[in-house]
Amino acid sequence: MTSLDDLPLRDDLRGREPYGAPQLDVPVALNTNENPYPPSERLVKALGEAVMDVAGSLNRYPDRDAAALRADLAAFLCADTPGAGLTGRNVWAANGSNEIIQQILQAFGGHGRTALGFEPSYSMHPTITRVTGTGWIDAHRAEDFGLEPERAVAAIEEHRPDVVFLTSPNNPTGTALPLDAIEAALDAAPGMVVVDEAYGEFRRAGTPSALSLLPGNPRLIVTRTMSKAFAMAGTRLGYLAADPAVVDALLLVRLPYHLSAVTQAVARTAVAHGEELLGTVDALRRERDALVAWLRGEGLTVADSDANFVLFGTFPDRRRVWEGLLERGVLIREVGPPEWLRVSVGTPAETAAFRTALKEIL
Ligand code: PMP
Repeated sequence: MTSLDDLPLRDDLRGREPYGAPQLDVPVALNTNENPYPPSERLVKALGEAVMDVAGSLNRYPDRDAAALRADLAAFLCADTPGAGLTGRNVWAANGSNEIIQQILQAFGGHGRTALGFEPSYSMHPTITRVTGTGWIDAHRAEDFGLEPERAVAAIEEHRPDVVFLTSPNNPTGTALPLDAIEAALDAAPGMVVVDEAYGEFRRAGTPSALSLLPGNPRLIVTRTMSKAFAMAGTRLGYLAADPAVVDALLLVRLPYHLSAVTQAVARTAVAHGEELLGTVDALRRERDALVAWLRGEGLTVADSDANFVLFGTFPDRRRVWEGLLERGVLIREVGPPEWLRVSVGTPAETAAFRTALKEIL
């Protein structure tokens, strides 16, 4: 049997673990922050028709620049943040926001360059950073998982990174970042500032998106995804909004025809049904707030969440709690600081199953 050690693998990949959120067949999956509501029958039909429409021309490559989809996404973002004045030229799309992040690092990171993030945060930021040969710098968040502008500026001035990652709301803590922290980071950063808004649609009413800072800030990139609020994780569609020059940079590193015709057609259909898909966001926010209150009522420590998941603890042996839940058919995520666990907000029935199982364990 050949093992990985026998292969001439890159030295900097030796000993690394692959991304590994367990994919288990369980009755209640609350581990990857998906939207628990499947597409309606009407939408399933529309998606099927959209695929049928492109099926007859699958002998041809897709639109390499996904122009129609990007225009649709720009219109959607304009509804979210009217002042941003975005058009298709400001938007770029790829297979999940992970691929977007990879393309950003391919274009703005690389050997001899660094990216900086504030951990605990999304684990793929350092992973993709390293895989692209970029050095990773972990600047820490405060005890309460917040990120004060002064803290962000001090870390950026100390390390002078080529790319800064800010995640709002942050995964796995749920913490939203005030705009002044993003503005301060932009002022201090010598390079690109990426605001990962994978959970942006779940933010509290009245909180502006970083999209509002785009005019006049060509070094700002805001990334979004259809995997979370948009309830389309299986489609694999992530996107960004930025100055058109940023899109020009990404055109240098993207693979030709990276976004399949099927993906583009499905994503366009989903955007056209955006109102219906995002119609679950309010219910998920309410379910989240109720879950936070319930966990606190049980005497647990819970991070404030602006997302569709909740980080709670603290458990000297979190593995025991995670396993106990799994034995009861509820899969959550062992992620973040050592004594904490993260649970995604599910349907009322799923969240009730989680509460019942956790109560038995506690
Ligand atoms: N950013 C953050 C903060 C995330 O939590 C995730 C998914 N867990 C992603 C990006 C990537 O999502 P996708 O590739 O599905 O768009």
